[in-house]
Amino acid sequence: MSVKTGGCPENCGYCPQSAEFDTGVKAQKMLEVDEVLQAAQAAKQAGATRFCMGAAWRAPKDRDIDKVAGLISAVKGLGLETCATLGMLQPDQALALKAAGLDYYNHNLDTAPEYYQDVVSTRQYQERLDTLQNVRDAGLRVCCGGIVGMGEAPVHRAGLIAQLANLNPYPDSVPINNLVRVPGTPLAESEPIDPLDFVRMIAVARITMPKARVRLSAGRQQLGEAVQALCFLAGANSIFYGDKLLVTGNPDANADLQLLRKLGLRSRQTQEEGAAPAANAAQGCGCGCTCG
Ligand code: SF4
Repeated sequence: MSVKTGGCPENCGYCPQSAEFDTGVKAQKMLEVDEVLQAAQAAKQAGATRFCMGAAWRAPKDRDIDKVAGLISAVKGLGLETCATLGMLQPDQALALKAAGLDYYNHNLDTAPEYYQDVVSTRQYQERLDTLQNVRDAGLRVCCGGIVGMGEAPVHRAGLIAQLANLNPYPDSVPINNLVRVPGTPLAESEPIDPLDFVRMIAVARITMPKARVRLSAGRQQLGEAVQALCFLAGANSIFYGDKLLVTGNPDANADLQLLRKLGLRSRQTQEEGAAPAANAAQGCGCGCTCG
């Protein structure tokens, strides 16, 4: 859920929330606790086990951290795992979020270092790595992945995976996003990735980070059912679920459930409620072992 939308001073070429691009996204102030709690409750009822809150900041101010800490404690109180993505963090800010009950922090590397400045010029790759270190030092679990379909070459996709897999330890959660080409963003005219190359990306993430949750993230709507099915076979074991992923559309939650059913996959929640374990790419790594 986007808890603070738009007006971001960064210029990430894929992002409709940058204040630099005319995308029709209106800047909004941070949501109130009640609104976020309502959405978290609905997500829980729809089968989600972790609730992610995103805010469009380059880096939060300390007073922002205080407000987000309130959201985190409230969502945690519902029995959900919590995740946040708020931009670059200082060590004391990461500690404050941990103390509020944050489980995961999302901070994507986006692409390989060699292609990074083609995507964003308002920060350096090293700043991403520094925040990841601050997050890890605070005892938070790391959710970190990237985006494909931004005009990068295969070597850049390999470079992204190499960066992720060589983080020590590699991220617990690895979202792989398929660029949603939003009109008004600099990358809106990028050549879409070949769907089978997207599946390869998932497979290589699975092989190089065997215990990570490899997540199908933004752009699932564009992939269609058949490619998503191949992604699960290639080792994806998580999806972002809900009507929106921050500001871009997500498949309908019922359509997701139907697809998982068709493929014989079960959610972690279904299992915890006592259903028999089955072919289970949604829980394990998808290869039939139990490493998940
Ligand atoms: S991706 Fe995040 S940091 Fe970049 S412009 Fe969008 S909201 Fe800002």
